[in-house]
Amino acid sequence: MRVTLLGTGDTTGTPTPGCDCETCRAARDRGVERTRFAVHVEDEATGDALLLDFSPDFRTQFLREDVALPDAGVVSHIHFDHLDGLGNAYRLFDHLPVYAADETDPKTGESVAETVASKYDYLDNVEPRAVSPFEPFDAAGFEVTLVPVDHPPLLCYGAVVERDGAKLALSGDTTYDISGESLDAMRDPDLLLADGIVPAHLADHHPVGGRHEDADGVPQTFGTKHMTKEGALALGDELDADEARVVHVSHFYPKEEAFAEELAVDGETFTL
Ligand SMILES: [Zn+2]
Ligand SMILES: [Zn+2]
Ligand SMILES: [Zn+2]
Repeated sequence: MRVTLLGTGDTTGTPTPGCDCETCRAARDRGVERTRFAVHVEDEATGDALLLDFSPDFRTQFLREDVALPDAGVVSHIHFDHLDGLGNAYRLFDHLPVYAADETDPKTGESVAETVASKYDYLDNVEPRAVSPFEPFDAAGFEVTLVPVDHPPLLCYGAVVERDGAKLALSGDTTYDISGESLDAMRDPDLLLADGIVPAHLADHHPVGGRHEDADGVPQTFGTKHMTKEGALALGDELDADEARVVHVSHFYPKEEAFAEELAVDGETFTL
């Protein structure tokens, strides 16, 4: 299983348009990017390809990384940075199954699958397929399981992708408050991709601050929707991941920390 990180940034990406902060300038100097979130998974033997989330940077990402267009897709939740790239499916695919959860979100009155269906009902080639959390399904030959995570006010799902003994786990957009059942499904991955939007020392900048402090008082959650870098890495330890990469990274990381080893940048590849 070959995993390509197409997009490793948060919703504004790095560099952020119109931003002249030191981190965005350093990214431009280094020629690195963190575009909006998406992960490409391919079976190199068969060519089967799966896309996890549809970044608004879809076109840029596929041209830049030169990976195969997917045979199927999965949508974690309905925020712009994970879904709105699906419009790129127009004329690129004859038929694209898109899997998403079937649970009704009290906030929207619809499941993620229903929102995908209603938003993209003008695309005849997109076929939304509703699936239930914790029930493995086949997508482009990969065994995929959606696991509920914590991203209020919306429902959001992490994902486990398995094939031929290899296991990839994604946290989705989430706080550190992930249920034991979800953790059990994600356990022992070869690679974990975990939301770490800011370092813990920036938690005071959020109106709600940090939460879910570890034994040393370090917040694992930033505000109400995301983990800190420390939370993302702690999740990797908790799951006993062989490797963990921090993704959904924002430009709010100070320049000195923004390109540290554990933080992913676009274009990284992994063979599981
Ligand atoms: Zn910036
Ligand atoms: Zn989100
Ligand atoms: Zn996001």
